[in-house]
Amino acid sequence: MIFSIDVEDWAQSVLNPNNPVTNRVLDNTLRLLDILDEHDHKATFFTLGNVAQKHPELIRKIADTGHEVASHGFNHQSIFNLTPNQVREDVSSSIKLLEDTSGQKVIGFRAPDFSIREYLFEWYCEALAENGVKYDSSLFPMKVVKYGIEKEYSLKIFNKYHLNEHYLSYMNFFGYKLPFFGGGWFRITPYAITKHLSQKLDSKRAVFYMHPYEIDLEELAAVQRAHDHIPLKWRASQFIGRPTVEKKLHKLMSDFQFTSFANEYYSDASLLIPQSTSSNHAEDKVIDIKDGLATKTSFS
Ligand SMILES: [Zn+2]
Repeated sequence: MIFSIDVEDWAQSVLNPNNPVTNRVLDNTLRLLDILDEHDHKATFFTLGNVAQKHPELIRKIADTGHEVASHGFNHQSIFNLTPNQVREDVSSSIKLLEDTSGQKVIGFRAPDFSIREYLFEWYCEALAENGVKYDSSLFPMKVVKYGIEKEYSLKIFNKYHLNEHYLSYMNFFGYKLPFFGGGWFRITPYAITKHLSQKLDSKRAVFYMHPYEIDLEELAAVQRAHDHIPLKWRASQFIGRPTVEKKLHKLMSDFQFTSFANEYYSDASLLIPQSTSSNHAEDKVIDIKDGLATKTSFS
């Protein structure tokens, strides 16, 4: 299974993009590195450029301890709010900084807030391919206000640019597609249920995701001190379940084997495109495979 972490500072990336990056992202990511090390797992760290700017030593540590450094954009701006040129600049500047800091080639990208729609595919994929990206992991199988992909879409444009899509794992639940394997779903779900559902996933291709701040129990008090008002929607959705996360992570890492995208798919020098990257469904395989790559995927 793939373990992926979106490395960002909550107050900057979620609360207000004009806020400075703080030391909390450094401390929380170091704790996650310790947990991964304790269980001898590797992970992919989709990291913001502004985090690399503020904490270059963190990026070096991620790389030096055998994990993969990938890009999450520069300032956590949603792709659908940017022009094609701005996306190109965002992808390019974040990758250059991450590569210069880590000494690793960056081959993976995850859009902030999974902000991908099918109408964005052409110039989004073009920007990724131009910057040497080999894979994307931005398709979130549930349409919500800020993110989530349409129920059915074509990956032909990804294929055209030789990009693999590793979308997030999900399960079918009475007609809904629940991306239970990470984030808020992981925080609120009892571990026994997560374990049961995870056993139905493809043991190689399943993609778990989380953020460093999800193990931070002191953040709410700190941001309330630093900022006048934290909207109820954020207090209700972003902090719920945090006290359970670290304990659940230890159980998850004991029960399943995790690695990075780079280790799983791109460990050979040629960076060959894998045969299929799209069986992240808890029950079924991808619908339509052509020439070794998914051409059409449906969440309906
Ligand atoms: Zn993010």
